[in-house]
Amino acid sequence: MSAAFFASHDGRGSVSARGQNNRMILLTASAFRLCLPANRPAKDARSALLLLVALSSCGGIDQEPLPCHGYGCEYDVQGPAGMRLRYAPAVEPGDPRANVAFLEQLYQMVEDCAGIQAPPPFVVIEKDGTLVSPLDGLPRKGLYYSDPDLVLIDDSTWTFWSLKHETVHYLLHHALGNSDPDHTSPLFGTCVELPFALP
Ligand SMILES: [Zn+2]
Repeated sequence: MSAAFFASHDGRGSVSARGQNNRMILLTASAFRLCLPANRPAKDARSALLLLVALSSCGGIDQEPLPCHGYGCEYDVQGPAGMRLRYAPAVEPGDPRANVAFLEQLYQMVEDCAGIQAPPPFVVIEKDGTLVSPLDGLPRKGLYYSDPDLVLIDDSTWTFWSLKHETVHYLLHHALGNSDPDHTSPLFGTCVELPFALP
């Protein structure tokens, strides 16, 4: 089992570390999520897959977590630059946040600003309020996991800001092997505009 760097933000610049307990919390949360759809009819292939996983997971036989840090690796669309994006069921296909080409533009803005090039990461949009740091159990607007790379952002008004912020974590990890969970890099300030004025 490879240890993964983990970084997150809550919009106030706080954050992160890494630890063994984190994985346990994440797995517990994932298992709970998986058990929910067991009594519902499957509406599509992904639901059917979740149902199958849920049945096997909740039967007490197979406790294997989903890959990609418990979120599963399926994506809805891939952009011209290679970004894989899963936006359903959080947002509709016509939503700007489901526009992978636009998200790639935001990603490339940060790339250019940071002077670091890397293949775009796997991005998953979740419902506002569902992202919880496995480090402290507190809500987050975005999360970054490495190995394999995964950027989680919510569908709130923070979506685009969060994508750029987590992109900085991702690019730093790609270039330095350290995602800088404590936000010591000036790139967090210079490459991600603040969503509000500082007091
Ligand atoms: Zn952060």
